[in-house]
Amino acid sequence: MNDPYTNAVSQLHEAAKIINLDESIIKILSHPNRVIKFYIPVKMDNGSIEIFEAYRSQHSNACGPYKGGIRFHPDVTESEVKALSMWMTWKCAVLELPLGGAKGGIVVDSTKLSENELERLSRGYVQKIHKYLGPDMDIPAPDVYTNPKIMAWMLDEYEQLNGGSYAHGMITGKPIEFGGSKGRSIATAKGGFFVFEEAIKMLNLSKKNITVAIQGFGNAGATFADILYKEGFKIIAVSDSKGTVFDDNGLDIPNLNQHKLSTGSVKHYGKNISDVDIIELDADVLILAALENAVRKENADNVKAKLIVELANGPITPEADAILEDKKIVILPDILTNAGGVTVSYLEQVQNSANYYWSEEEVINKLHDFMKNAFLKVHDASTQHKVSFRKASYVLALNKVVKTMKFRGWI
Ligand code: GLU
Repeated sequence: MNDPYTNAVSQLHEAAKIINLDESIIKILSHPNRVIKFYIPVKMDNGSIEIFEAYRSQHSNACGPYKGGIRFHPDVTESEVKALSMWMTWKCAVLELPLGGAKGGIVVDSTKLSENELERLSRGYVQKIHKYLGPDMDIPAPDVYTNPKIMAWMLDEYEQLNGGSYAHGMITGKPIEFGGSKGRSIATAKGGFFVFEEAIKMLNLSKKNITVAIQGFGNAGATFADILYKEGFKIIAVSDSKGTVFDDNGLDIPNLNQHKLSTGSVKHYGKNISDVDIIELDADVLILAALENAVRKENADNVKAKLIVELANGPITPEADAILEDKKIVILPDILTNAGGVTVSYLEQVQNSANYYWSEEEVINKLHDFMKNAFLKVHDASTQHKVSFRKASYVLALNKVVKTMKFRGWI
């Protein structure tokens, strides 16, 4: 099945078996607390009105206010947003952040909008659901095709609707000058790298001999590539939605970044490959930094990597996961590995509420502690229950969320 919500629920069931979780608890956690579907009318530059379908799914606020990004993408669906909101609940719990899980989305190809149209659309999102948002209620952040500039428009709209009262902790991933945190823009990749670093130590892999392939060259993928390149890893292939580039001597990532900046894609940089899917390429490490369902039952058997790093959310379907497990491929799962973004979002909120700001070094050091501790706990749980890192992460997350639900008297 490639339906994201069905997949998310199936992962929950798999993990629940390990800790004999009660059926009634699974039933509650299989549903978001609330899903808001709404339509945003936007006046386009030519004077016409376009209507955009939008969502906010609030999965759980057991451990803290709902937290999660807003995605602008033509393929956004209710099922996807619900799945992403559930994964946010687990992510925050694995990292032991005092936050719940949510996700939003607008069905739009934002690359086709002018700057003014994009601003009206972003403000329109907040106008429609501001009553359900707030620093203690639900805190959005950037996700696919959203960025600090969009967060700034959304915050301004929110504060204006609240009579001008400051509420900077209502959204994270803001521009630094407008209450953002230093280190937030590189946080997902940096956090993923800290987990990757621990994992290769544990697997006794030597940096010199590892070849890496990266699917996805957006914020997370490109920043991860940058970090690996500076650390001396050999990246032999990179893909984005338009094409795949390859160099078995290792790609020059700063040059590739320049190329992407000027042409909008990695395509046409050096050698392009079209006959082999990057997922099936002969590389030791595969970084999944694009969208859901990149590895499915149809291509899982052809994966050659020994280690997979999930920087995207939900890039491997449960059926593919089982195939990869049989092939003894180690997977660093999304709800642990890409949690650096939300972790620095949490640190951003902490800074907002204190109205005192840390240096990038302080933020990244704190991020390092969070990610390393989480990895070590996941590693221990995986040894204790003899399960994959994914299942071990779920076990930790479920234990925390369920405990809190019990304290609250919900179950
Ligand atoms: N969109 C990011 C994610 O999927 C960040 C969420 C956040 O910072 O709240 O984890």
